[in-house]
This record gives sequence, structure tokens and C-alpha cells, in this order.
Amino acid sequence: MEPLLSPVTVVKGIGQETAKDLADLGIFSVHDLLMYFPTRYEDYSIRDISEVGEGERITVRGTVYGEPSVRFYGRTKSRMTVKMVCEGIVISAVWFNQHFLKNKLVPGKEIQITGKWERSRLQITVSETKLQFSGKKQELSSEQLIQPIYSVTAAITVKQLRKWMEQALKQFQQEIKEILPQEILRKHEFISRKEAIRAIHFPSSTKEGGQARKRLAFEELFFYQLKMQALQLVQKKQTKGKGIPIPLEEVRQFIRSLPFTLTKAQKLVLKEILDDLQSPYAMNRLLQGDVGSGKTIVAAIALFAAVRAGYQGALMVPTEILADQHLKSLEELLSPYGIQVALLTGSLGVKARRDLLAGLQMGMVDVVVGTHALIQDDVYFGRLGLVITDEQHRFGVEQRKILREKGLQPNVLFMTATPIPRTLAISVFGDMDVSTIDELPAGRKPIETYWVKGEKLERVLAFIRKELLEGHQAYVICPLIEESEKLDVQNAVDLYQQLADYFQGEFSVGLMHGRLSPKEKDEVMQAFSENKIQVLVSTTVVEVGVNVPNATVMAVYDAERFGLAQLHQLRGRVGRGAEQSYCVLIADPKTDTGRERMRTMKETNDGFEVARRDLQLRGPGDFFGTKQSGLPEFRIADISQDFQSLEQARQEAVALLKHEDFWQSPEFAFFRQYLEQQGVFEVGVLD
Ligand code: ADP
Ligand code: MG
Repeated sequence: MEPLLSPVTVVKGIGQETAKDLADLGIFSVHDLLMYFPTRYEDYSIRDISEVGEGERITVRGTVYGEPSVRFYGRTKSRMTVKMVCEGIVISAVWFNQHFLKNKLVPGKEIQITGKWERSRLQITVSETKLQFSGKKQELSSEQLIQPIYSVTAAITVKQLRKWMEQALKQFQQEIKEILPQEILRKHEFISRKEAIRAIHFPSSTKEGGQARKRLAFEELFFYQLKMQALQLVQKKQTKGKGIPIPLEEVRQFIRSLPFTLTKAQKLVLKEILDDLQSPYAMNRLLQGDVGSGKTIVAAIALFAAVRAGYQGALMVPTEILADQHLKSLEELLSPYGIQVALLTGSLGVKARRDLLAGLQMGMVDVVVGTHALIQDDVYFGRLGLVITDEQHRFGVEQRKILREKGLQPNVLFMTATPIPRTLAISVFGDMDVSTIDELPAGRKPIETYWVKGEKLERVLAFIRKELLEGHQAYVICPLIEESEKLDVQNAVDLYQQLADYFQGEFSVGLMHGRLSPKEKDEVMQAFSENKIQVLVSTTVVEVGVNVPNATVMAVYDAERFGLAQLHQLRGRVGRGAEQSYCVLIADPKTDTGRERMRTMKETNDGFEVARRDLQLRGPGDFFGTKQSGLPEFRIADISQDFQSLEQARQEAVALLKHEDFWQSPEFAFFRQYLEQQGVFEVGVLD
């Protein structure tokens, strides 16, 4: 057996009991243990005093210079001060409640202390004292100067884990095999895997730690990309026999009948989509474009094309409000051509649902719009050709599998209004093709964004009134209470009361939140779009996709609690008509980052720019909403930091898969085995 796959109990010092505790951390084998990376490090390396800033942690070695002086407070509390010479400077070291060290601190003795540096007073408040130490810095032992900190459970201490790690490395480091191709190692000057895994745990210097991290992060991204690129390859090769024969002339005519001309960007992405549909390979494409860039019409045209070629289409959206809205706009566009559009959501009655399912199965319904209810077990399509998902990435390999099990390999188009830089999108969504709408329809007036402090609320309301008096409408978004829908709703109700009082007798105020029934939501939305309600107080349920062109004000309470991407989405609810629109962010951010976010919103209307800054300010985990986006949670890689590695890893993975011997040569057996383990071939068969 592969030695690294032995259970952890082969490591000296780890018994059955410990093994159980380690299992709670997901550590079963030696390999698991070695791959359990530190979350951070404590740096005990000795730094030049002059480099260390006020209040920072510092470790110094020096010579005791004077007699310790101790002052007691009560029986056990004490403060002891000693003068020391470090690097030719006299500093004082202060210990609290450690007077028992007094006899050890004799003048002339060399000691090493770690603590907080008070630069202005040349004083260290000591937290750790070493009376003995070896002069060597390199050896792997408790002398290690940069100590790894691991995330542990109550049953295990960091110190124990360090000890076991050290022991595991002693016994098994030589067994660690290289898994990156030699060529890549040479080209990127990576250290070996063996070295990297030791150094990630016990770096001898910050530099070495950095090299180890870089190599291991690349490795992780490389295997991720290898899987994604192989998936793409496999999916592409998965022939459906023939492409969809699109009646192009009819499509052109349909486009000509629209009340506006498509933007250049819309035409371009439409061509990419129609090419995909006509090709024998199943489409797997991400369509990204800023809010208001006109993705819906592109979707409608693609659906039109598929239906006219004899297929069914499905449009999947995250909320019922949005489903409803899309149903209406699709009906408007498509029913003049005799195309049957239907709605399938969780709130459909039993009988209506049964009829609809029958219609879908027999191919009588051409286009169905719905929430996730669309791909449930009992939903069958007669001849599904195209699936479009709007405003979400949650349609992944799993959902595709569900469809495949129904004998379907539809073309899938994912639409998202959370734009990310194109190169990043290509790398991150490695198994998809990416189309980008990078311009807005002509004639749009840029939305003016203001940031006001909470105390100016009265003025905000006056401003809203002014807009209402001109016949426009406004959204008012309530503060977001983390993790608590109940409190969000309470907030919305309170704010609604307040505004209803304020505008009483003048304007009608409506309320929207997640606890309303689908029917109630629908009524409120309907009333707002018909201008029966002028002010809509809402939680973030209106965030995605909602389209009421007469609304010109988006006011957001406690805007600092929202992410940039979310604020940009909210802002995208206005500016949809010909009138000048405004976004008012009411916020008192307490942090620099918070203030920077508000400034970003003020300074730019461009979703790609917002995304770029968001990525900088927040880091990638939050940015992509990892769990929802279907992105893997990386062990060590961090997409915001390792942006370049990600792209390099993608290129290397593509190159490896293109190698003429990749699918045959024993040289690459390891990678093929990995792909097999990852279930890449279940998705389709390579010919
Ligand atoms: P999003 O990309 O945010 O989903 P929508 O598809 O909702 O944007 O489009 C926003 C608005 O712009 C809609 O009212 C739509 O009819 C309109 N629109 C789309 N394309 C064009 C265009 N080429 N010219 C003018 N208006 C357009
Ligand atoms: Mg949309």
C-alpha cells in the first residue's frame, strides 16, 4: 500500500484515542495529516528592533543588564522590570505575575523574549520567555522560529498537532511523491512537493513559507483546472448527433420586429450562442453582463430560435417574483408567434401542475419559466433543447446529471449580472465558455449615486417626495439583519409604517418581504409596476432582475451592511427608463473598508469596475459566495491572491490535455486516474 495512505496511528505518538480526535478534523491517514495546513503562523524570528512598529509583536535576544525590580500587588499579582541590551540599545522588559523568573534573570545572562513592543518607551511587555535556546535557526524542532498555528478542536492543542506533524514528517517526508509534471516545476521554478509540504508546516523563513504556499496553491489550482478543462472537453465531445437547425432568417425577422436595435455586444453574444446551438456539442456557456445590459432579450431570442427549430426551452430563475416577470415579458415577445409560454413554480396548484407537466411531456408547451421546481423528479420534457438560468450559478454538474438521467443533454446558458473580469471568469468557471455583454444600450443616463449619513434622513425623504411629485416611483430597501429573515421582516414592517405615515394622504406605500405568500408578492409587484403604489419598501427580495422603468429612486438604509455586488444589483433596479435616476445610500460605515465601499459606489456605475474593487476589498470567498457559486473551497489557494496562478494553472492544464499522448501514455496515467476519480467521465464518454 501507498505508505502515506496508512492510518495516522503509524505516526509515533499517535494512538487510537488521538486518532479519534484527529478524525474530527477530517484527518484519517498520514496523507490527510500532512495536508492539514496551518491557518497562519506565529513569527518568532528575530527582527531588527528598528523595523518593528509601535504595538507590534516582537521577538528579541539580548543580555540582562541590571537587577530585576519587582513590585507586588496583593499576594500574587506582580510587575517585574529588567533592563536589557539588545542590538546595542538598552530596553526595558516587563513581566506581569512572573516574579518566579527573578532568580534566573541574572545580569549577563542571554535570554530571548517575545512580546508587545512599545516603541515610544523602548519597552517590551513580555508574553514568552526563553532562557535556553540553541543558536541554530534551521533545525526542525521547538526551536523553530516561525511556528504554525492550526485550527483545532477542544480535544487537541496546537502544540500537540505541531509535535505530531513534526513526527509525521520525520517518518514520511521521504515518501512524498512529486505530482506536478517536471516541465511545470522547471518552468515556474517551484520547489519540490516534499520540500513544500515540510516548509508549509515549518518554514525556516518567511520566504521559504511563501515559496511553499505558492507551489501548493498552484498544485491545487492546477488539479482543479485539469478537472474543469477535461470536463469541458468531455462535454464538448458528447455528441448529440446533430445540432439544432436554427431558421436564421426567422430569427433575423424576429430581431427586426423588436422595438429597439440590439447593441453590438448583444449581437456578438447572440452569435456565439446560436453557433453553440447549431453545433453538435452541448452548449455550456456563461453569459455575463452588467445590470440593464439587456440579457433577457438575448435569452428570449435564443428561446425563440430553439422553439422555431422544433425544441422546447426552459428559463430557470431564483425567485418567483422574477419567474413571474420573465413569464410576462416572454409572453409578450413570443406569443404573437404562436409560442406557448408557461409558468412552473412551487406554488402552482395540484391540478394546474399536473396539466402543465403533461403539456411539457407531450411537447405542447414550448417554453417554461420557473424556479428550481423545473428540474424536479416528476418533470419530463418531450424535446428539451435549451435551458437558460438567470442570475445564479447554482446549476452545476448535479443538475446536468438530473437532466441527463431523463435522457436529456440540453444546451445550457447561465446568465449572471455579477460581472467579473473576463479573464478571471474564464479561469474560475473553467468548464464553461464565457460570453460578455460589455456595453449598455445607447441613451441610458448614468445613475447618480449619493452617500448620505443617517442623520440626514429627513432630507432623503424630502428628495424622494420631490421625485414622486414628478410622477416617478421609489424603492426603499431596509437594513439587512444578518442571518435573520424574521428580523429583516420586522424591520421592513417598521419602516413601512414610518413611510406610510410620512407620505399619508399623498402617496401610497407598499411592502415587500420574503414572508409574503407568492400571491401577495405578486399583487404588490403588480401594483408597483402599475404605479398604484409609488413607494415600495422592501427587503432584498427585489434585488435581482425586477424591472419597473418608472422607478427613479433607489434608497438603501444601512447600506454599509450590504456587499458591493449587492448594492450594484439594487442600484440596477432604477435607471431603466428615460428619466434621470438616483441611488441614495444611507450609511454610517464604521470601518475604512466600509467607507471605501460607499466611495466606490459613488465613483463608478460600471459593474466590472465595482466587481474588481469588491474583489480587492473583500477577498474571493465572499465575492463569489463560494458555497452558492459551485466553486470549490480551496484548501490553500485564494483566488484574490492567486489570481495569476489560477490563470497559469489553467493554461498548463489545457496544454497537458492537448498533449498528443495524454490519453494513452503511461507517463500520464496518474492524471487520467485523477480525472476518473473526479467523475469526469461519468458526465460523458470520450470517443
Ligand atoms: P438585464 O441584463 O439586467 O437582465 P434586461 O434584459 O432586464 O437587463 O434589460 C433592461 C432593459 O433594457 C429592458 O427594459 C430591455 O427591454 C431594455 N433593452 C434591452 N436591450 C436593449 C437595446 N438593445 N436597446 C434598448 N433597450 C434595450
Ligand atoms: Mg435580468
